[in-house]
Amino acid sequence: MAVKQEFQAESKRLLELMIGAIYTQREIFLRELISNASDAIDKIYYKALTDDSLTFNKDDYYIKIVPDKANRTLTISDTGIGMTEEELVNNLGVIAKSGSLAFKQQFEAKDGHNIIGQFGVGFYSAFMVAETVTVISRALGSHKAFKWESSGADGFTVEPWEKDTVGTDIILKIKANTEEDNYDEFLEEYRLRQIIKKYSDFIRYPIKMDVTRTRKKEGTENEYEEYKTEETINSMVPIWRRNKSELKAEDYENFYYEKRYGFDKPLTYLHISADGAVVYNAILFIPEQAPFDYYTKEYEKGLELYSSGVLIMNKCPDLLPDHFSFVKGMVESEDLSLNISREMLQHDRQLKQIAKNIRNRIKSHLLSLLKDDREKYEKFFAAFGRQLKFGVYNEFGANREDLQDLLMFRSSKEKKLVTLDEYVSRMPEDQKYIYYATGESVERIDKLPQAELVLGKGYELLYLTEDIDEFAVKVLQKYKDKEFRSISGGDLGIEPDEQDKPSDAEAKEQQELFKAMKEVLGDKVKDVRASKRLKSHPVCLTAEGELSIEMEKVLRQTPH
Ligand code: ADP
Ligand code: MG
Repeated sequence: MAVKQEFQAESKRLLELMIGAIYTQREIFLRELISNASDAIDKIYYKALTDDSLTFNKDDYYIKIVPDKANRTLTISDTGIGMTEEELVNNLGVIAKSGSLAFKQQFEAKDGHNIIGQFGVGFYSAFMVAETVTVISRALGSHKAFKWESSGADGFTVEPWEKDTVGTDIILKIKANTEEDNYDEFLEEYRLRQIIKKYSDFIRYPIKMDVTRTRKKEGTENEYEEYKTEETINSMVPIWRRNKSELKAEDYENFYYEKRYGFDKPLTYLHISADGAVVYNAILFIPEQAPFDYYTKEYEKGLELYSSGVLIMNKCPDLLPDHFSFVKGMVESEDLSLNISREMLQHDRQLKQIAKNIRNRIKSHLLSLLKDDREKYEKFFAAFGRQLKFGVYNEFGANREDLQDLLMFRSSKEKKLVTLDEYVSRMPEDQKYIYYATGESVERIDKLPQAELVLGKGYELLYLTEDIDEFAVKVLQKYKDKEFRSISGGDLGIEPDEQDKPSDAEAKEQQELFKAMKEVLGDKVKDVRASKRLKSHPVCLTAEGELSIEMEKVLRQTPH
């Protein structure tokens, strides 16, 4: 009987946290063990490639998953580099460099339950599902194998064992079901397949499993029999690393469904393989429709983040600015640590650069869509234009600039959507401002007395019918040096025709009339004066001051 050794104090603490974890994403233990197996194969693979004394056969490198319902065990085997006796003690008994350490700090800082899934938690995550963990390993270059075993925080044993080949078997004795928790699922083929597909599909080595299939019994008409056959579960070559020219729109659509980025169809996608100052691959989608919760506080933006084929975060919010929060998809960067935490990520320079790069790519993608496929762009704008306008209001500097060229407003010209660039580029020379009017509908605005003058001059008028429109325009102030002017406030810069100007006598008469009117109206108006913005209508109301009542109302509703 081997002597029991103690875990290092910190390991013990982490392990206790794992054992007690009431956590719905327990399934990630498999991701952790597979990623360790893959790391171990990476190491031997590299050795074999660089060391002539080792024979090299690509088929020798694989990971195998074996569920055994009768014995309630799940075995994860790899043909990797293996561990010596000393390594078993040091790597599995002590938290050294391991990301587990960073995790542990996070775990203690906060209530850990929601953060487990977000980054690597390492080998100890096996204790979320197993009552006993046994590791049998034989290191490269050694003829001896060893068995490491632990049933929890009180310690582990290491003793000599038999193993014919180099590599590691991790045997999990799966916990018994309790009233609240079902562990049986981790012994089910279909469930294991699902978990592997979800988290480890793009591991570079085959992940094999014996799966049950049915076939027609030989010599019979309608009789079927089950049989086992070994299959590779993961697809190994991720779509984002494939060459764009090999891929069809359909492949991207399938990926979109497979990943459940949305239940609609993607309206458009972009595939980025950046290898300049920042190196990363990304596949990004813009959905056809806004998700049902999109304009609510519940909606969470973010992209999936992979590092070397392993999913490290489901929704990394730092990769997307709020104004592009509708973008779905994934990013892979080799240089990120698997064990990076959310807080560390926020300060990661590499990630910041990727985010900036992505922002620019999305912007130019949308601009070319606008140029090349107007119909599609308008569809996009119908779904997400509102978010862009919120963006104009909420963002500053470069982010705001990004957005102004993507905006569209309904215009008096054929009542079509126009961009600000289109508006400005066809302004007559004598037109000073970009004119807009706010109102419930195009019809209502057309009836405004003030609209007549602007339209009569042959100038184009923007109909701001959405509550957020006015904010956007007020915040922008100008587009290409042309100021925005509401037709119902401020100087319109349109001089009345000579014959419409009052004579001195008329002006005097008006003054008296206005005085009398003001007395009658009292507090209801601030002032009564002659207007330069009327043509055939006798009177109009104008607003002064910065925020209209409508604007204040919207401000309170801004979701994100
Ligand atoms: P990390 O993978 O971040 O280092 P883990 O807790 O997942 O942390 O694993 C701890 C260490 O145990 C690894 O760094 C590795 O040295 C060793 N190890 C774990 N699993 C295996 C394996 N299947 N083959 C070889 N070494 C392993
Ligand atoms: Mg690991």
